Amino acid sequence: MTYDIAIIGAGAAGIAAARTVLALGKTCVVLEARQRIGGRAFTDTSLGIPYDAGAAYIHFADRNPWVREAKRLGIETRLWRGWTHHEAWQGGAPLPEDQSAERRYGYGEFWDHLETLGESLTDTSIAEAAHHLSPSAREAARHFSRLALGEEPSRLSLQDYQVQWAGPDRVIPSGYGTLVTTAAEGLPIYLGAPVKRILAVSNGFELETGQGTVRARAIIVTVSIGVLKAGHIVFEPGLPTHILKALDGLDMGALTKVALAFDGERFGLKPGEDKILLDAPGGSMTFEVWPFDRDIVIAVTGGDAGREISQLSSPAAVDHVSGLFSTITGRDCRPNLRGGSLAGWWSDPFAEGGYAYAHPGAFSARQALMETGIEGLYLAGEATAGGRFGALMSVGGASYAGWEAAKRAIKRLR
Ligand SMILES: Cc1cc2nc3c(=O)[nH]c(=O)nc-3n(C[C@H](O)[C@H](O)[C@H](O)COP(=O)(O)OP(=O)(O)OC[C@H]3O[C@@H](n4cnc5c(N)ncnc54)[C@H](O)[C@@H]3O)c2cc1C
Repeated sequence: MTYDIAIIGAGAAGIAAARTVLALGKTCVVLEARQRIGGRAFTDTSLGIPYDAGAAYIHFADRNPWVREAKRLGIETRLWRGWTHHEAWQGGAPLPEDQSAERRYGYGEFWDHLETLGESLTDTSIAEAAHHLSPSAREAARHFSRLALGEEPSRLSLQDYQVQWAGPDRVIPSGYGTLVTTAAEGLPIYLGAPVKRILAVSNGFELETGQGTVRARAIIVTVSIGVLKAGHIVFEPGLPTHILKALDGLDMGALTKVALAFDGERFGLKPGEDKILLDAPGGSMTFEVWPFDRDIVIAVTGGDAGREISQLSSPAAVDHVSGLFSTITGRDCRPNLRGGSLAGWWSDPFAEGGYAYAHPGAFSARQALMETGIEGLYLAGEATAGGRFGALMSVGGASYAGWEAAKRAIKRLR
């Protein structure tokens, strides 16, 4: 069958694109490699307790389309008011008050400095921007980069980060992944259909999938730039030089989560507490304790430490991380562990990383991806969301990007 538009990937971008195409009266199909919908918005229920293995926060909630969507679907969201208690640990003990104060001061100095840079920003790295600040501000830059952006600060373009929209966050007790999946109900999505080859033909494209060949007049490719760079999809003819150059300027960070489910023992810790082990091997690691008052702890790390953990097997990662969590519980927590799970996006062939970042000097790469120069071929997803919207690295941004690509594709078809 020939469709007006074929969409590759059933994550937030693909879902937004498909809904737009159908709303505007064209035919489409969504081809998804995995056996599930949602991509990097995934609420894992395999431990019997739902938790978001990928996206968890509805960022810039004042203008994020997912807030409206949750309301429409009757899915509860809550304003995120931050952790009830944040505590840093080092050398097997909480940081003494004077060192905690120093740490807070470092964060303040780092944020103030970014604010003073304002418009006069050059496309340098986050590490470079912080290099003349105090040691505690430089440490703040390192922790923030790894744990929020998933990458080492020397590799991150400061300008890319600075265009990001700010605003309130909301959380979803039933999970961001659940919300995204529910929004996709009724869409023409084929699961287990990895696209392997895209061939430009006279009046459109032929797509080779694990389930046969699909033809479409236009295509919207929403796979991560990690998947594109890994060459899992072969384009014939190949992608133009300016797209390959833009891809060179972008890479995937390695934000990584490990979930630990417990038998009800809470080790004296309260729901909503957040602990950070500053000296975890390879880089800092946070522990989000009993989110939504559930018997689960989510460990988060990023950058090279995230890469190392992602390459372990799930049981080995759970063992490693529960050993580290035992530092905080004060005794071996493993006898109370009911199960655990690694969300190793870095070693996942359908993600190839957490989310895209621009290298210093490559600030314009996201925008460049939006004009492929090939008639009828559109790239869209969280990586392109920073081109026109300051919504990069997010589910909301991916949706904006999918929606925009669909409108452009339809305009061309008309
Ligand atoms: C650990 C982590 C935490 C995050 N936290 C947040 C957060 O709190 N808030 C937030 O807004 N964002 C967060 N993000 C980012 C957010 O998850 C992504 O920006 C967003 O989900 C990306 O959506 P997308 O549609 O662009 O890509 P994806 O969700 O990756 O969708 C692409 C789809 O393409 C599929 N695919 C891959 N290869 C093929 C192929 N060959 N053929 C067919 N299909 C293919 C994939 O399986 C996937 O389903 C987080 C990400 C991670 C990893």
